[in-house]
Amino acid sequence: MTAAVAASVDSSHALTRERRDHPSLDIPWPYATVLVVAGFLVVAVALLVTAWGGASRQADPRDQVLWLNLAVLAVSVLGAGCAVWLLVGRRSVTARSRQAQQAIVLALGLDRGPDAVASATGLVTAAGLTRRHHVDCPLMSGRSPLPTGGELDSCGVCGS
Ligand SMILES: [Zn+2]
Repeated sequence: MTAAVAASVDSSHALTRERRDHPSLDIPWPYATVLVVAGFLVVAVALLVTAWGGASRQADPRDQVLWLNLAVLAVSVLGAGCAVWLLVGRRSVTARSRQAQQAIVLALGLDRGPDAVASATGLVTAAGLTRRHHVDCPLMSGRSPLPTGGELDSCGVCGS
């Protein structure tokens, strides 16, 4: 384990400790979104109860149409609240995932380019490749380099 990965793991544990001490950090929704969604739900329930109460006082089914329309509106408001909840949560989870990926890239030193990755051995490989290459090998073009030693077979193109 490299020092950078160890530091990343330590910071990950610190983040876990921070979340344990502050459980509100675990949810992917900002507090304002929770309030907005709660508002949607309260309005939806109020409309639904009003529609139910109004319809229950009407004996003729034709007189219940207005209350039925109000109930449909209530369900629509409920659906809108759920949509906001899911969209904000999905966006937040995506942002957290992107942050985690960037932390991994920084911890592994992959952000410094192929020359930095290959600095220890001078040789690289990539996912899906079975041979070692020089950094400037044409077969590494467009691939994310990973450091390697002499354990892989030599490349026939760059003669590593
Ligand atoms: Zn090569």
